[in-house]
Amino acid sequence: MSRVFNFCPGPAALPETVLERAGKELANWHEKGLSIMEMSHRSKDYVGVAEKAEQDLRDLMNIPDNYKVLFMQGGASSQFTMVPMNLLRGGNKADYINTGQWSIKAIAEAKRYCEVNVAATTEGNAFTSAPSQDELNLSADAAYVHYCPNETIGGVAFDYIPDVGDKVLVADFSSCILSEPLDVTKFGLIYAGAQKNIGPAGLCVVIVREDLLGDTIAGTPTMFDYKVCADNASMYNTPPTYSWYLAGLVFEWLKEQGGLEAIAKVNRRKAEKLYGFIDTNPFYANPVAIANRSIMNVPFTLADASLEKSFLAESEAAGLLNLAGHRSVGGMRASIYNAVSEEAVDALIAFMADFAQRNS
Ligand code: PMP
Repeated sequence: MSRVFNFCPGPAALPETVLERAGKELANWHEKGLSIMEMSHRSKDYVGVAEKAEQDLRDLMNIPDNYKVLFMQGGASSQFTMVPMNLLRGGNKADYINTGQWSIKAIAEAKRYCEVNVAATTEGNAFTSAPSQDELNLSADAAYVHYCPNETIGGVAFDYIPDVGDKVLVADFSSCILSEPLDVTKFGLIYAGAQKNIGPAGLCVVIVREDLLGDTIAGTPTMFDYKVCADNASMYNTPPTYSWYLAGLVFEWLKEQGGLEAIAKVNRRKAEKLYGFIDTNPFYANPVAIANRSIMNVPFTLADASLEKSFLAESEAAGLLNLAGHRSVGGMRASIYNAVSEEAVDALIAFMADFAQRNS
């Protein structure tokens, strides 16, 4: 069976070679006579797989030694809770930048634990841009500053890393981690749900500066304490072993592609092609400020919204899947993560050109 082109925002496409390798290894991992899923997470073999995955991620992102890499559960949504629980550190205020639906969810959760200062919001322009550094109204007594560098639903990305002085910068990198090189040292904490650029759902990667560990608010559940997770090498309890293993295969694949510099070039080319096409064809539109267009999630509308159903049906019939926009905003969205090939983007553009011509 041939594979489709999958533009799903998450769980998203995985590299085909990774899936093939996982398939080959599924029932009999490295001639051990059992699947990796059936092994104790404390066995030498599994710990080797887990440690290699962490090292490969450290190599790819150039993560300094004074940062812990945690393989957690509960998705990025649980981080909306864990961040205030672990990082308020005696304070009772945090700054949040609001650029869309995932920022809103993070803010709502933080409000359960502290006062939230919304340092900037682009709600006024329907979340079609990110605020500039000058527009950030940071408070002197915030324990940390939180933002979402890539809003998956709106397709809005920051084109800079906010300068927060000596404050702790926290970022939800769920939909853009590993898409391009990143200076980890600018952050106190980075988190990302796995199911876009890392691997299958069930895993959430947290990269946190060591000195921020160990001062949780009263009542923090043991499983939500970053220090407990770090002290136990992310194995305080049984981790999602298969997702972690598969993430390791994705990291190996990324290294084979030439690492983040190389994949960023491909990602930029893919995004430029798609936005370039949308901007020159009056049948399609993208509302996001050019500087803030995401290279991972490309929302677009059709000139005639009544054609959306046929656009989706025909694209699916052509082997282009999951192009519907988020249920909260409608329209279309193509998610073009690392594992979505340039060939897939070319096929999408060809389909869009043909559809526009037939319906104009
Ligand atoms: N943050 C962002 C930016 C996301 O895109 C998502 C999921 N689409 C989440 C958080 C929530 O992730 P999860 O479903 O893993 O909780």
